Amino acid sequence: MIKIIFLGTSGAIPTRKRNHPSILLKYNKENILIDCGEGTQRQFKFARVSPQKITRLLITHWHGDHVLGIPGFLQSLFFNGYSKTLMIYGPKGIKQQISNVLKAFPMYNDVKVKVEEVLGKFVETDDFYIEAKPLTHGKIPTNAYIFVKKGKLRIDKNKLRKLKLPSGPLLKRLKEGKNIIYNKKKYLAKNLTFSEGDKKISIVLDTSMNKKISSFVKNSDLLISEATLDSSLEKLAKERGHLSARQAAEIAKKSLSKKLILMHISNRYEKDSEKILKDAKKVFKNTTLAKDLDVVRI
Ligand SMILES: [Zn+2]
Ligand SMILES: [Zn+2]
Repeated sequence: MIKIIFLGTSGAIPTRKRNHPSILLKYNKENILIDCGEGTQRQFKFARVSPQKITRLLITHWHGDHVLGIPGFLQSLFFNGYSKTLMIYGPKGIKQQISNVLKAFPMYNDVKVKVEEVLGKFVETDDFYIEAKPLTHGKIPTNAYIFVKKGKLRIDKNKLRKLKLPSGPLLKRLKEGKNIIYNKKKYLAKNLTFSEGDKKISIVLDTSMNKKISSFVKNSDLLISEATLDSSLEKLAKERGHLSARQAAEIAKKSLSKKLILMHISNRYEKDSEKILKDAKKVFKNTTLAKDLDVVRI
């Protein structure tokens, strides 16, 4: 089971109800933090999760609302004697930015960090993988991420029949994802198998509408998307490199995603966030609007 905790759900300006953006994804021994807006270390307290458990930090882009919490978060780790190496991933430029943070707060240099600028699949285990896709957000590099828990590998029996491959030990190898050789010819496992029962979580934060998004998040079990403004302000959303709630819903629909959760809501909707939700629901019914500290299990 994958557990998602919405630590912060605001847009650029935090409000009384919404902290700066941050999402915690828990799966087995992995505790992956996506973005770390101001006050994230305190949100951990409210969520009753120890920051010590963090294994990876994924940054979407270097705008304050998504990263102002990094020094404070590192301080939490430092005070608690974090002994692992914190893996930090982000778009182009992240190495320099994190190095600047560590220079500005040299006392936290005891926390071991390793920073990688990522594109495509950058973490893969037997059980899951994480992939990054660059999107469009003004001039600043920004990444969307997918987390995929791998399902079971199944054999495509039709293809097998067509190729007249015999059953037996060869099939066992294929099921393990290994390539096979039959009659001196090599067959790649990836061409003869498919994965069934994958669980896919997609996270699309700051970006303007972009055709690449729906193919990247295709068939998500859960799509988490920014919805900074409502559809009446789409022109402004475009100028500022953001999505409207309606556009987020269109992505969910086009990508055949099962569920959409909206966050990164502008402070102008503090008293009327239903407006954002209604906007999206007109296009994609299975939409909810995240509140801080909401927990979702997939
Ligand atoms: Zn933002
Ligand atoms: Zn931004």
